[in-house]
Amino acid sequence: MTDVTRLVIFGRQGAGKGTQCDRIIDHFGVIHLSTGDMFRVAVAAETELGKQVEPIMQSGGLVPDEMTIGIVRERLSQPDVESKGFVLDGFPRTPGQAEALVEMLGDARLTAVINLDVPLDEVTARMKARGREDDTDEGIAKRLALYDSETVPTINWFAERGMVVNVDGLGTEDEVAERIFAAIESSD
Ligand code: AMP
Repeated sequence: MTDVTRLVIFGRQGAGKGTQCDRIIDHFGVIHLSTGDMFRVAVAAETELGKQVEPIMQSGGLVPDEMTIGIVRERLSQPDVESKGFVLDGFPRTPGQAEALVEMLGDARLTAVINLDVPLDEVTARMKARGREDDTDEGIAKRLALYDSETVPTINWFAERGMVVNVDGLGTEDEVAERIFAAIESSD
């Protein structure tokens, strides 16, 4: 039976997750589902949700699970996502979100959970080289620490269930993309 591709991708900031998401979308024809983008759209449109999440996003905190799970649940049930599949980017970020995701997918199980692995010193160097305004030593350290305290336990949640594929994120964009495609195809 052919089934649609349903993916989750994890990776620290500076690991190249954005670039590789674009490659995955081109290659597999899946829909990009980024909770960060969904929240930014809600903030720009000044919806009720947008008003609630704006201060949380500004402070660099996490939006409560209930709201986050709610927007993902709504989007996942739409026909384009059901027929084309998806790559989830920035969700789940807590073990509670991971549990809710698996539960809401039911029989439509995930094809693969990709962990784009780049050593800490390398992502730190890449972020510094990027020279963004918020890429101060302190800012970089804070974001990396948040990833370790919030997202790593979520990756572990999937790993305990044998669902994670670690992909070496060092190399050229093409090399990394080939590794990701191979990991997804062998998880099918
Ligand atoms: P991102 O673009 O993925 O870095 O997300 C931007 C901001 O949106 C984050 O700093 C959080 O405040 C919020 N956000 C995005 N995804 C989630 C999530 N899965 N859980 C909680 N908050 C989230």
